[in-house]
Amino acid sequence: MKKDVFYDLLKFIPKAELHVHEEAVIGRETVKKVYERNFGQQMTDEEFNSLFDYKDLGGFLNSFIKIQSYFKNVQDLEIQFNDFEQYLNDNNIVYCETFISPTSHLKKGWQFNEIINTISKCIKRISTNSHRTVRCLIDVSRSFGMENAMTNLNHVIAARNPIILGIGLGGDESKGPAKDYAPVFDKAVEHGFHTVTHAGESVESWSMKDSINLCHAERLGHGIQAAKDEEFMKELAEKQIPLEVCPTSNIFILQEFKGDMKNHPAKKLYDAGCNITINTDDPTFFKCSLIDEYWNIYSELGFTLEDIKKIIKNGFTNSFMAKKMKTQWCNKVDEAWFKWFQAHPEEKE
Ligand SMILES: [Zn+2]
Repeated sequence: MKKDVFYDLLKFIPKAELHVHEEAVIGRETVKKVYERNFGQQMTDEEFNSLFDYKDLGGFLNSFIKIQSYFKNVQDLEIQFNDFEQYLNDNNIVYCETFISPTSHLKKGWQFNEIINTISKCIKRISTNSHRTVRCLIDVSRSFGMENAMTNLNHVIAARNPIILGIGLGGDESKGPAKDYAPVFDKAVEHGFHTVTHAGESVESWSMKDSINLCHAERLGHGIQAAKDEEFMKELAEKQIPLEVCPTSNIFILQEFKGDMKNHPAKKLYDAGCNITINTDDPTFFKCSLIDEYWNIYSELGFTLEDIKKIIKNGFTNSFMAKKMKTQWCNKVDEAWFKWFQAHPEEKE
């Protein structure tokens, strides 16, 4: 299928996204705008370009935190959510579980409840205007230590806001092993929250095993390093533990793929029976959209259209939405798929 036709099909099909950092959907122009508004001067080209110039995970995380530092008032989050809404509309994402990283904002003195109430307002607006559902996973973060992660969880427990489904563990797993954060995740589960972790992005199987065994991870963020461990890959397939695969992010950040999508192990994981979903991670930073990512795996990795449809449905079935809703959305995917091909008889499924 040609690229423009593929994009037309994918735009028509409702999708879910499970691994995307809300702060990383901000438009590049919005970054400039927020900076100008809060610092009373334009950002120099040098500073702007340096924000998007990184060669590894550490460099990228620094840029991520730096952009968060430009936000001076909690109301600035509303601008961010304008871009987020646009992104959901452009990609026809009807359901999204997005990571929110509160640490940098809390360090500025913002109150957790203020942040969540503002986000809640934005999410309601997106639901009313665009009929899209957004829920949050709070990234307790492994970049600022265990005490900070526990503080974040305590805020989540105290807030008890229905937009928060659970917690995640973002940041560089090589510098913050999941096992160090086990008490935070034990407590989150005790309080009925869902748990996910970034694991197997850059570190081998032990990191994913710790995430599952010690942090009760219900999904693994990335999980791609499992492709190097046949035995563990088999175990993931047997247990059907969902992997939130983010192809462009991995190609961008990890030297091992030599910048070539063809080296990405998504197809190897899929062929081994692993339960994969496709996500963008940080669309603005990696210049990709969700539809781009589906095109990448279709055009570069040999996934068939049938595979693409299955993976789209995985986005819904692996989400934390109610079981009944999962079935409804999977049926809607089938209906939309059928309808699109009916209107395009020249295209083969
Ligand atoms: Zn991520």
